[in-house]
Amino acid sequence: MASATGTVFNIQRYSIDDGPGIRTTVFFKGCPLSCVWCSNPESQNLAPELMHRDSLCKRCYRCVAACPEGAISVGPDGVEIDRDVCTVCGDCVEVCPHGAMRITGREMTADEVFDVIERDADFYRDSGGGVTLSGGEVLLQPDFAAALLQRCREAGFHTCVDTAGQGSLEALRKIIPYTDLFYFDIKHIDPKIHRAQAGRSNEVILRNFQEVAASGVPLVVRVPVVPGFNDTSDAISDIAELVAVHAPGATVHLLPYHRYGQQKYDMLGLDYELAGAETPSPEFLRAARNIVESRGLTCEVTV
Ligand code: SF4
Ligand code: SF4
Repeated sequence: MASATGTVFNIQRYSIDDGPGIRTTVFFKGCPLSCVWCSNPESQNLAPELMHRDSLCKRCYRCVAACPEGAISVGPDGVEIDRDVCTVCGDCVEVCPHGAMRITGREMTADEVFDVIERDADFYRDSGGGVTLSGGEVLLQPDFAAALLQRCREAGFHTCVDTAGQGSLEALRKIIPYTDLFYFDIKHIDPKIHRAQAGRSNEVILRNFQEVAASGVPLVVRVPVVPGFNDTSDAISDIAELVAVHAPGATVHLLPYHRYGQQKYDMLGLDYELAGAETPSPEFLRAARNIVESRGLTCEVTV
């Protein structure tokens, strides 16, 4: 177990949004989905990536000279990075005096992550908190996840897994025994619409949802409410129906779309497809909540 390694892009201490109480959230890097609204685009690629924050860049161009691959050039708007050439060596990060370059994602052992987690043991105990594994997709690194969860269990820390459900049944079954709470995303019931905006169909997700529901582990279903994707009464109703049938004791969280992650797309050299999209209206969110509650489910609108 101690030798299990994984790739993470953030360890967030004192988190209050990823489960009960005060938590440490470990963000796994790598996700098989590519949702166009993703607020953590740096989570999608399993490999470490270079991020350039233009708002911090002072155009000193030390990075251009430092790059051994010739991947950085000076363009009309400042630094340009050829990501097909970049090897993510980090030399430009080292020489940048303004913190405009950074690498996201690094391989860590379960022991190294647990060393960070256990620093806040007192907070977990006093607040009813614990540890959340999030992503990215936790199921993409099941041995690492299971090792971490087992360590947390042995230490008496509450464990939560926040998953999009896109992984093998074998992976899921490795982590269920060590999980006290699942946050499970359901985005759309229609497989074609799901594929068009999340990059893959939803058959695997819906199968895994039933597996988690049948496991008896407490479950919160999280529904990102995204304009032009699932912000209709029918789409919300279909999801509520699925949850009511398979997990009638589950709580549903509606997560209104927001643009908080937009800047990260620029930092990674990616296009942001939802640039013109608006946050769902309070009226629609109220109606969506009523739809969910009409199925006998508990529902919260979160931010
Ligand atoms: S070294 Fe840093 S501040 Fe200077 S041009 Fe490169 S990214 Fe910008
Ligand atoms: S990470 Fe290395 S290869 Fe990539 S741009 Fe920076 S110096 Fe060049």
